[in-house]
This record gives sequence, structure tokens and C-alpha cells, in this order.
Amino acid sequence: MSKTDLMKAIKDEILRLTNSPLYIYRTSNNYFPVIGEGSHDAKIMFVGEAAGRQEDEQGFPFVGIAGKNLDKLLEKVGLSLNDVYITNILKYRPPENRNPNPEEIRKHTPYLLKQISIIKPGVVCSLGNYATKFFLSEGNVDLMDKQPGITSVHGKAKFVEIQNVKFKLIPLFHPAAIIYKRDLAPLWEKDMEIVKKEIKVNKEQVKLN
Ligand code: URA
Repeated sequence: MSKTDLMKAIKDEILRLTNSPLYIYRTSNNYFPVIGEGSHDAKIMFVGEAAGRQEDEQGFPFVGIAGKNLDKLLEKVGLSLNDVYITNILKYRPPENRNPNPEEIRKHTPYLLKQISIIKPGVVCSLGNYATKFFLSEGNVDLMDKQPGITSVHGKAKFVEIQNVKFKLIPLFHPAAIIYKRDLAPLWEKDMEIVKKEIKVNKEQVKLN
């Protein structure tokens, strides 16, 4: 099966995820599941938290205000949707944008891990606390609370292995946080330098292979 077929199979599985309370919320509001967008051959993947209202209405991640900021981020490092894959920890929006709960993270992240295992990006950028803590706890949701917050780990690259899927994790501030805390913008740009370097290394590795 091609990567695209495998990703389609994941989408079909997520559409059948009827035992999630979020599924009921989504279907009763006529929203779409938000599975991901971008290249299935991407060497870099961005993982946010969950869809907001606009993402839910359109079925694509990061299409609202936070998404506009993420677009700027991508542009800054010379990337477009042709080069990256963007997804979230949760594939459905929690009502009123509340925080994801452990049960939801447990139900939804197997699909995220499958997406990573198909795309096999060298670099995964976690956007904000939830995605970062999920990866730092190596997929053990019970350990997420014990992980350091994004303020202390942003821009620090780390090798992560979850269920035989290996990648370099680079935690980044969530694009929405930058909107409300403008003083994070310079830190964010500095972190982008690290991402840029990693992408360059990755591209060179690809050339060598
Ligand atoms: N915030 C996220 O974490 N993900 C989205 O898709 C949109 C906003």
C-alpha cells in the first residue's frame, strides 16, 4: 500500500471512532474530523493540540488565527504545505475548546503514532504543552503531568522513540500563545533557527540516501 493509501485507511479508522465522547459532540454539531494536512513524504511534522471551531467547520488543522501564525512560521523557514505535515494530538475538537482529557488523549494518540510511523519524518515539532508532554512522556499519558512545561524545553531538540518510531523532537511554543504573549515572538524566532538547522541536516541526509 502507498503512504497515501495507508493515510486514507487511518482517516477511515478515525471516522469509525464512535466510542469517543468527542465523536458524539462532533456529529451532533455536524463538524468534520480534523485528521491532518500536508505532504505524506514530509521530513518535518507539526503536532498541535486539537481543532478549534474553524478547524472543526472546515476539517483542516490550523486554519484559524493560530494557523495564520503557523503559516508565518513556515514561511520564515522557507517551508510550505508541500514540505510538511500538520496534525494534532486529538482528531476531534473538545467542546468550547476545553483542554483535552487523559482518556481522549489515550483514545486519539494511537492514530497520531500511526501517522508518524507512515510519514516517518526526521523531525517532529510539538506545538505547545500537550503535544510536547505527550512526546516527552514517550506516549505514556499517565506520565504527561510529570514532564517539564514548554517554557523550559522549547527549542531543545531531543531524540524520541515511541513504539519503534524514532524522530527528533523539537518543542515549540504554540502559535496561539505567541498571539497573546508578544514577548515570546523573539524566542520563537530563535527556536526556528534550530528547526532550520535540523531541516538542513535532514535535506542533506536525504540527498546522501
Ligand atoms: N490549535 C491547535 O492546536 N490545532 C489546530 O488545529 C488549531 C488550533
